[in-house]
Parts: sequence; C-alpha cells; structure tokens
Amino acid sequence: MSTYQQQHVKVVCYLSAEFLMGRHLENCLINLHLHDRVQQVLDELGLDFEQLLEKEEEPGLGNGGLGRLAACFLDSMATLDIPAVGYGIRYEFGIFHQELHNGWQIEIPDNWLRFGNPWELERREQAVEIKLGGHTEAYHDARGRYCVSWIPDRVIRAIPYDTPVPGYDTNNVSMLRLWKAEGTTELNLEAFNSGNYDDAVADKMSSETISKVLYPNDNTPQGRELRLEQQYFFVSASLQDIIRRHLMNHGHLERLHEAIAVQLNDTHPSVAVPELMRLLIDEHHLTWDNAWTITQRTFAYTNHTLLPEALERWPVGMFQRTLPRLMEIIYEINWRFLANVRAWYPGDDTRARRLSLIEEGAEPQVRMAHLACVGSHAINGVAALHTQLLKQETLRDFYELWPEKFFNMTNGVTPRRWLLQSNPRLANLISDRIGNDWIHDLRQLRRLEDSVNDREFLQRWAEVKHQNKVDLSRYIYQQTRIEVDPHSLFDVQVKRIHEYKRQLLAVMHIVTLYNWLKHNPQLNLVPRTFIFAGKAAPGYYRAKQIVKLINAVGSIINHDPDVQGRLKVVFLPNFNVSLGQRIYPAADLSEQISTAGKEASGTGNMKFTMNGALTIGTYDGANIEIREEVGPENFFLFGLRAEDIARRQSRGYRPVEFWSSNAELRAVLDRFSSGHFTPDQPNLFQDLVSDLLQRDEYMLMADYQSYIDCQREAAAAYRDSDRWWRMSLLNTARSGKFSSDRTIADYSEQIWEVKPVPVSLSTSF
Ligand SMILES: *Cc1c(COP(=O)(O)O)cnc(C)c1O
Repeated sequence: MSTYQQQHVKVVCYLSAEFLMGRHLENCLINLHLHDRVQQVLDELGLDFEQLLEKEEEPGLGNGGLGRLAACFLDSMATLDIPAVGYGIRYEFGIFHQELHNGWQIEIPDNWLRFGNPWELERREQAVEIKLGGHTEAYHDARGRYCVSWIPDRVIRAIPYDTPVPGYDTNNVSMLRLWKAEGTTELNLEAFNSGNYDDAVADKMSSETISKVLYPNDNTPQGRELRLEQQYFFVSASLQDIIRRHLMNHGHLERLHEAIAVQLNDTHPSVAVPELMRLLIDEHHLTWDNAWTITQRTFAYTNHTLLPEALERWPVGMFQRTLPRLMEIIYEINWRFLANVRAWYPGDDTRARRLSLIEEGAEPQVRMAHLACVGSHAINGVAALHTQLLKQETLRDFYELWPEKFFNMTNGVTPRRWLLQSNPRLANLISDRIGNDWIHDLRQLRRLEDSVNDREFLQRWAEVKHQNKVDLSRYIYQQTRIEVDPHSLFDVQVKRIHEYKRQLLAVMHIVTLYNWLKHNPQLNLVPRTFIFAGKAAPGYYRAKQIVKLINAVGSIINHDPDVQGRLKVVFLPNFNVSLGQRIYPAADLSEQISTAGKEASGTGNMKFTMNGALTIGTYDGANIEIREEVGPENFFLFGLRAEDIARRQSRGYRPVEFWSSNAELRAVLDRFSSGHFTPDQPNLFQDLVSDLLQRDEYMLMADYQSYIDCQREAAAAYRDSDRWWRMSLLNTARSGKFSSDRTIADYSEQIWEVKPVPVSLSTSF
C-alpha cells in the first residue's frame, strides 16, 4: 500500500457481494514458493501435509461462478502487479454445507468462523458508519446553497477485515477487505434505561443481522429488504473507505476517477452509483455536474446474466423506506437521463419508458441494471456470445445510445489454483517438457503441441490422468461407499443445480444407455462413471428434485446386474472450491450442456479444458471460444444455437412432438414417470415429466437426439485411446486464452487504464 500511496498510482477497486476464495494455505505457499520446503519439513516431522491442508475451513463466501471469478481476479491482479482491493461482505455464515439424506439435499449452516480465522486482520480503527431508513430534510447552507441531509433511523458500524492475497512470483499482494456489521452502541442505552431491555438487545442484534448470512441463490435474486441492506452496507462502507484514502493522499476529490477504477461485479453493488453521488454532493459539497462526471468515469459494470428473472429490481416503496436519500438521487439521475433521451429521440415515448431507471406498474421497481449502465463509462459481457446478446437484446436500447461503452471481457480462471495447485502431476509433466514459464504466461502451453506425436509423452500424459482418477475414485468410495472403475470414462457435470444448466438432460442420456443395456445386456458399451456435484438453492424445488433424481437413478443403475458395473452414477455432496480441485483434474469428459444463450460464460468449462478433459457442449457462453481455440475436431458440439432457440420459441414450441416421434426418448420419460427409480414413491417425478412434455422451457426435448448422437461420438473417440490422448493434450495446449491473467490484462488496458506497479521489498515497514 505504501508503494501505491507514494507513487500516486491508479488502484482497482473490485466491488463484489461474493468472493469464493477457496482454502488459503496451500495457495499462499505455492505463490510464495514455500510449498516444497514446507512439505519437506513436515515430512521430516512425520506429519502428513495433505491431512494438515484438509484441516483448513474453506471460506465459502459465494454461490458459484460469479464469486469464484472475483477470487481468480484477485490472484491475477496480484500476479500482474495491478494495485487492487476487493471489497465485499464478511458473512458470518457462508454458503450452506450440503448433505444428502435418502438422496435429498439437506442444508447445514456454515459456521466457518467458529474456530476463528487466522487469515484476516481486523482494522477496527478504520470502521465507518452506515445510515439506514429515516427521512431527508432540505436546508440552505451558509452560502445559500440548496442542501439535503439524511436523518436515518438506524446507524450501523462497518468493521473492515483484511486478507492479503499473494501473487505468484511477485512481492505484490491484492487486498481483500470484507465488512462486518455491528451496532453503533453496545446497547441502545435510551431503551435500556427506560426499562425496555428487550428492545435494546433487539436493536443491537438486528444491526448485526446485516452481515449474518450469504443469500444462497445463484442467478435468481430474491427481493428481500435485508439483501438490499447488505448491498448498501458494503457499498457505502467501501466508497467511504475509498474516499478517505483518496483525501489522505490528494486532499480533494476533483480527479478521483484518475486515481481509482471501480468495477461492479454484476448489479449487486450498483447502489454505488447513487451512493457515490450522495457522498460527493451531500458530504463533500461538489456540484451535481461535477459529481456526475466523476461518478461515470469511476464506475464500470459487468453484466453476468441473460436470464430475465435474474435481472435485479427493487420495489420503489422498499427502496424509499430503506434508502430515502438514494431514492431521491435516483429520481434526479433518471429525470436528467430521460430528458436527454427525449431530446435524442423526440416523440419516442415507448423508448424512454423502456430505458427508464424505474419500471412502471402496480408496484413500480428500480431497475438496477439500468442504473449501472447509466452510471458507468463501460459495460461488459463475460464471453463473446454473451456480449453480442447483451447488445442485441438485454441492453439493446443502451447499446443504441452508447455503442462505445460496450466491451467484451471473456472470463478466465487462475492457472495457479486450477492447474499448478490442483493437478501437480500434470503441472510437473508440463514443466518437464516446456519449462515453467507457463505458470505466469499460459499461452506458453502451446509449446506442448510439439509433443502431440510423441507416443512416450502421450503415455505419460494418459498415466497422469489415470492416477488422478485413482485418487478421485478413492475419495468417491470414502464419501459414498460407491466403487468406481478408474479405467472407465469419467463423465463429469459439476456446477450449481439449475434448470438452464440441464443436469436433467445428462440424466436422460444415462437412462438411454441403461435402457440399451436392459434391452441388450451383451451390448459393447464404453464403461462410464457419471460424476455429479452441485448445490441447489434451498427454495428451488425443481433443482432439489433433480438432485433426488440423480441419486435415485444411481441407486438403481449402480446395483442392476444387467449393467454389470459398466455404468456408475455418483453424486458427490457439498460441491465447493476444494472439491472442485479434486474433480476437475480427474475428468475425461466435461459436460457443458446449457440451453444455448443462457450460460453467460461458464468458468468450470475452462478449468476442465486446462486439465485435459474434452468438452461435450452446446454453442453457448465461453464454450464457443474454447471450441475455437482447441479446434472443432477436438470438441464435441451438439444442439440448437441461440438463434434457433429464439426462432422456435417464437413459432410456438411443442415438445410433445419429440415424444411422439422418438421411441427412445419415450422410453426414457417412461422410466421417470413409472416410478422405476423410486419404487416407494412412484409418482415423484410425474410433474417433472409433464413439464417436459408441455412446456420444456429449456428445450431438453429438442436437443435430446443431438446430444445422444454426440455422446456416441465421444464414446467412439474414447475407445481410440491414441486419438483421445492427442485430443486431450491439444485441449490443454490450447487453453492459454482462458487464464484470468489474460482477462485482467484486457480489463486493465481497455476499461481501467491501469498499469502494473512492481513492488520492491524495501525496509520501509
Ligand atoms: C468454477 C466453479 C463454479 C462455476 O462453474 P460453472 O461450471 O462455470 O457453472 C462454481 N462453483 C465452484 C466451486 C467453482 O469452482
């Protein structure tokens, strides 16, 4: 930090409601080049390094891809010497632990702080205060200027906790600063003294509620007041912190945007737009125009979804009650914005209504994505197709207004955690062949292509994968008591459970193979182990039903004598970063089968590719770019494209027609509705089948045959093992684009305009 303050360099502030960091210890040791020495010392002491690492509690402060992206970005910014602070919430309870009882998901609270947290430093002296509720009052100051003050009915204290995130092979760290909520007084003494002990305690408790628990929804916001309070809490604390530091260094705020770049990770932190305006105008007395210029130049917004139900909206009434001053500022921003819109498009009232920050209706809503677009100088999607669809559909009116604001920033993942750390066998084999520059320059992996016809090297490549599969098989047995064959094809789908991700389609393929074997037990089938993992949002019944279905199918298939062990279905409980680190390196086939146009990018797909798995996938998100990089001959593509999906939806999609014309598909659905997999609850999946026949929002029926045919090709490729390992090697060799180092370099150059600042370890501590 002192290097940055001395040099007056621009700092990136990454605002995110989620940081899914994974365990720290091993990653820190690797990035600091201490791993092997510590391993050696522990060996000498007779201690088991792996067992020790497993003792660390994983901080699960995120739901899935969005939170993990924030964590990969902190690693890459540190590694690239980009000055960076990640700002978020120190949830007392992170994402729930998932257990399976009789095949159903059970949620256990994640009390991750119960033994303390050695990775953080409390910074009580840098606490800030956060207002909530109450009303506003206008007044004129001594110089006669119109001013507004916000009289809150609650004031919460935000306490920062800092966790340094070391870069690889550099003295630099990124800082992760998470805020905890506390009551401002130990107890409300007024209430206490007037004998109202219960109210005094309740006040204090309710303040602390704000940072109590992470909302466990992925891609489906819930319009709960506490969630809005969480968002405002960490955004206001972070902006106050940013301003305080800036004033310390510069003494004024006129050129704030030259010293910091604030990235909004989705709309969760988009109240930052009116909050920075409030701080600049009400607290630091800048003019509106001045404040607005600074605000727009400071913020950039990343959109993460095309699902219409995932776009955040807050009822105006709730917003008004919780954040009265911000609601006024939003109205003022909207009034000025719409005046411009009407000037640019005279008479086009419907366009103005579409663009408005407020959605009209019985219960008017604040459109947070619109707020983020208007208040930012840059708007980006997270993969090429996603950005294109944003421009054409979701944010089309904004694109027509400001095409120059739109960027594509294809996601990436850090090769330190997702290859070097999680797959040491492969990392060593790679470094033996091409040296270790790939660790901070992943495009170097291309040099592996020289070995694509080296039989001996390919054999070693295959042996690494096999050993990883042996390790995972052992873990599967420990966790589930299911025995799997490490020589079988490991066919893996691990990610949040969501209808658009189509875990159900993967199950339909499994049941198709099962039906083939039941019909012809002698069939010569490539043996497969199907591995699933992922959490369902606790209130998302259909997702939980799919978890149950996977387990039910496994409970029958895994024991059916006709199958002779050729198919195994495993659901590993509690998918998180640590479990991902075990699974991705052991996968042969990566299932990336979302309905085209629904998965913004995906990052799991990238982790698999880096680790030498082949992808079976739709033309969606970053799958498209993965296929382009690795070559279409090394990727199993199937299914309708986004434009086909849209066309069919608009013409009236009738899924039952696929049922009528496809006997194999009929046989699969019959297995579900007949109760074959749940004899004690034969009707359990009937609603699921009738939904497929009548609605099928995610078009599983339309993609079924194409998927089955493509799976047949994948099996044929696996049988030809020379071919398979060549393809596997080429997938890794051509995965360089998907390093988050590349993503961060793109943001730095095109959006943030920041440069690396090498940090030397001086004596100035
Ligand atoms: C990478 C990752 C994800 C994202 O997976 P997708 O397949 O892109 O949805 C989710 N959760 C964890 C724990 C991850 O490591």
